[in-house]
Amino acid sequence: MNEQNTDAIQPVNPGTFTVPEDDTPPELLGGYCRTCRSLYYPPPRYCPSCLEEVESCTVGGRGTLHSFTVVRTKPPLGLPQPYCVGYVDLDGSGLRVFGLLDPERVEDLVLGARVHLTVRSMGHDGRGEARLRPCFTPDEAGEGS
Ligand SMILES: [Zn+2]
Repeated sequence: MNEQNTDAIQPVNPGTFTVPEDDTPPELLGGYCRTCRSLYYPPPRYCPSCLEEVESCTVGGRGTLHSFTVVRTKPPLGLPQPYCVGYVDLDGSGLRVFGLLDPERVEDLVLGARVHLTVRSMGHDGRGEARLRPCFTPDEAGEGS
């Protein structure tokens, strides 16, 4: 595991994922509309369906890799080269979310792979400040089944 001291590094997009200070697995933070009972990620300010305000809620951090791509062109925001993005079907919430995938596990990415969320220092904020980003990584064999 690549453990990093992430104390001083701020999330790239606060309010869209948890940054646990213990062994709790990180989770994505979405938006829930009480009026029409819709769930969103990333959290919108207002519900796209009924325009009511949404409240922040956890939408999970485990799921199944639906699709992905490896981007080998020059990356933005100091991301590693190559970096990976894809869609993950989250367990429980029914949400399909788009996000970063573990650039150190490119060879292990396969459609249908079980993945879990990690939060790590990756890239910067556009002004050179390191930022924490959520990143899905494949489960190890036998993990979290
Ligand atoms: Zn709504």
